[in-house]
Amino acid sequence: MSTTGDPVQKAKSAAAASERESVVWPHRHLLALEDLTADEIRLILDTAEAFEDVSTRSVKKVPALRGRVVVNLFFEDSTRTKTSFVLAAQRLSADVVDFSAKSSSLSKGESIRDTVRNIEAMGVDLLIVRHHVAGTPHLIARNVGCCVINAGDGRHEHPTQGLLDIYTMRQVKGRIEGLEVAIVGDVANSRVARSNLHGLLKLGAEVTMVGPTTLVPRAFEKMGARIAHDFDRVIEQFDVINMLRIQRERISSNVFPSLQEYSRLFGLSAQRMKRAKPDVLVMHPGPINRGIEMAASVADGANSAVLRQVTNGLAVRMAVMFLCKQAAEGS
Ligand code: ASP
Repeated sequence: MSTTGDPVQKAKSAAAASERESVVWPHRHLLALEDLTADEIRLILDTAEAFEDVSTRSVKKVPALRGRVVVNLFFEDSTRTKTSFVLAAQRLSADVVDFSAKSSSLSKGESIRDTVRNIEAMGVDLLIVRHHVAGTPHLIARNVGCCVINAGDGRHEHPTQGLLDIYTMRQVKGRIEGLEVAIVGDVANSRVARSNLHGLLKLGAEVTMVGPTTLVPRAFEKMGARIAHDFDRVIEQFDVINMLRIQRERISSNVFPSLQEYSRLFGLSAQRMKRAKPDVLVMHPGPINRGIEMAASVADGANSAVLRQVTNGLAVRMAVMFLCKQAAEGS
């Protein structure tokens, strides 16, 4: 797709082109990649491509969501995702409000249903929701008329992270079909792992979950992943290695003897990188614990796509908000 011209027109043409091929974006909400078809995922990626160059202009704005209101409802900490949604909404010319869950009436006993219905009553178009309980964005979506986008629910899904990861893989490797992708570390507690898995399998990649038995349960095989517990034995086969943080906030018991031991076996050190393909793409959703899941020299090295992922997150989130809002206004 060309990168010149009006991005909103290009986004509309990406949508129209896929409509001609009978791929229509029908969803008012984006709750999980598990719910989408391969064509719908490709449509988001193509629409994101159309929005990519907005961020490189001196005036970083297009009027696609002018006059619309986006509310960030984050009940859990976030650095990248929250800022990325704010900037993406601003680049679409929406008005953006940040709702701080800690200083809200939830602490006075108001239910989440009442809270979101009150917020919606102020004329909101899109709600961006992060919550530590899996399924909360789904619950909210059932109770409001506006669009709801899941920005991470417990250990369930983080669909826009999955999309930006897949977008970055496609951008660098030129394809997803046939790619060998490793997802390494705390797979059991990671919503990023689940969203990557669903999206990548639908687009034809091979996905291997790598980690200790306590963090990579056999259940992932039923979801279509391969499982490996010895990183060094399999590392050379991968085109992409996506490293995960140990989700200490979701781990209550000891799942490995010590962090040093974990890092020695599953961390991406400079030494271990020597066994990988020379052009392997190294990814991480952030926040990185340098020296634990990944050495600083690897995170900042030539194979790392970590900052590219963050940049791509903007275009992907612009595409998701644009498509969901279009579907809502068309219905
Ligand atoms: N930022 C990602 C998430 O919210 C990954 C992480 O926190 O480790 O799931």
